[in-house]
Amino acid sequence: MAARTCPKCQTVIPPSEIVAHTNDLVCPGCGEHLEASGFSRNLAAFGGLAVGALIWKFSSAYFSSSASALGWVLPIVFGYLALSISSPIFLILLGDLQLKPYQEAPVPHEVLAPHSTH
Ligand SMILES: [Zn+2]
Repeated sequence: MAARTCPKCQTVIPPSEIVAHTNDLVCPGCGEHLEASGFSRNLAAFGGLAVGALIWKFSSAYFSSSASALGWVLPIVFGYLALSISSPIFLILLGDLQLKPYQEAPVPHEVLAPHSTH
């Protein structure tokens, strides 16, 4: 199955919709509720973590020789930023969508009357 396509009608979903509405996006072709599959979510998360760790490693090697007071925190910031940027890119590239399972409508429960003390 091609990436970023609806599994029901094969309509190509825009990448921004996948990133913005990962849990519940509506197919513009058939109106079906879709979600990103667990495989693409997990792979995007681990890919983002790997890129973040690489950036942290390279930047900590660079900043370890500097005498800056913020030399220890900048590699962490750069690693976090690399994770934040690369993980959605991995999710867009993988883009494996699946139909969202139907959820049962919540059943309203009766409100119990307060217990009388008399
Ligand atoms: Zn569709």
